[in-house]
Amino acid sequence: MKKLLAVLATTALSLSALAAYPEKPVTIVVPFAAGGPTDKVARDLGVVLSKHLNNQTVIIENVGGAGGTLGAAKVAKAAPDGYTVLLHHIGMATSPALYRKMPYDTLGDFEYLGMVNDVPMTIVGRPTLPAGTMPELVKWLEANKGKINLANAGLGAASHLCGLLFQQSLKIDMTTVPYKGTGPAMTDLMGGQVDIMCDQTTNTSAQIEGGKVKGYAVTSPRRLTTPALAKLPTLDESGMKGFNVSIWHGMYAPKGTPRPIQEQLNAALRKALADPEFIKRQEALGAVVVSDARLGQAEHKRFVEAEINKWGPVIKAAGQYAD
Ligand code: ASP
Repeated sequence: MKKLLAVLATTALSLSALAAYPEKPVTIVVPFAAGGPTDKVARDLGVVLSKHLNNQTVIIENVGGAGGTLGAAKVAKAAPDGYTVLLHHIGMATSPALYRKMPYDTLGDFEYLGMVNDVPMTIVGRPTLPAGTMPELVKWLEANKGKINLANAGLGAASHLCGLLFQQSLKIDMTTVPYKGTGPAMTDLMGGQVDIMCDQTTNTSAQIEGGKVKGYAVTSPRRLTTPALAKLPTLDESGMKGFNVSIWHGMYAPKGTPRPIQEQLNAALRKALADPEFIKRQEALGAVVVSDARLGQAEHKRFVEAEINKWGPVIKAAGQYAD
């Protein structure tokens, strides 16, 4: 009887906690440094998300390093109570092929909360690079083999994947300079400490428009309509046939987060992504908010699984691993 009462009391307690969720700030872990593209998406999203989470504060915690795997590992091990979630990109699907030992199981250690947006990438260069166009950049890279520095956010990051395929397509090896995110890498690119980088439009469109870095090409199969980026050719039309790297973001909670809380987070995400201001802001940065059909939790997990299967062989063929 005593035991039964104790079970009933705990159940009542956890049910009331569920009913009140969220009753304190919710933390979104961004697995990259502040000021970069993932961070920017998270901060914009956090503002609208808060409105649909009882106006609770949404805190952004940057846990950069190891191409996003450190931040993702932190969320995998966090309490599954809905107060710690992860916003991650394509690295969620590419890291398993890049690392021999992963600190978490991508499909087994998370609850999938829904996708956020699709973001193309761009090839950008330091402002002092003599090349002004993509064909001139290719010539410059060929003439400077062995001396080129390519910034990225570490093995497993989108900038790493894109840079890897870029080097492969050109058959030019570059020295990679890893950062905790492309936010700090962008600062060094603008300052001329590194030569080139492949990074999401959410981090590059304003810098290209303002002349702070040189924009050379987009990595998606079609040109973009965002004014700052419309003049950039695709890599495909620049002789790198079939080049197509597009980044997507999704939200995750630790495995075991109660179903009603997952559903609340998914519902809040759907409302946030329908916010006209958020949509407009994302569009101005070259990003496209996902349609409602891709917002289902099961659809999100299926998509990540398909991306793991798509990128695994490409990465293995490129022979890039870390322990
Ligand atoms: N753009 C970075 C990457 O290479 C990540 C970031 O700093 O948001 O994946």
